[in-house]
Amino acid sequence: MRVRGDMWDRRVLGGLWRWRRTRVLELTPFCILCNTEDSLQVHHVDGNRWNNTWANLAPLCKPCHIKAQRLPYLGCPDCGNLLHYFEGLWLCESALPVQYA
Ligand SMILES: [Zn+2]
Ligand SMILES: [Zn+2]
Repeated sequence: MRVRGDMWDRRVLGGLWRWRRTRVLELTPFCILCNTEDSLQVHHVDGNRWNNTWANLAPLCKPCHIKAQRLPYLGCPDCGNLLHYFEGLWLCESALPVQYA
């Protein structure tokens, strides 16, 4: 059992989450699926709320968030290809720079 260690980890990770959540919504103040600026939330793309890497935190409006929670990835609303986090932007797989595709 590593109860103490786990509790400490969770406090640290909880603080990181709150800070990153604020930063994500500052940097991208709109839903990346439908572009609305209303009722924004930050979605954990892989469904793991302890994974707070930038590529796992996607700004979504409430309705898109509810839909996105059914899938462990984000699909492009235009073509259905995967969306990838790339240097602060969420890009459709078909729009990624060639060397990253
Ligand atoms: Zn949306
Ligand atoms: Zn697309």
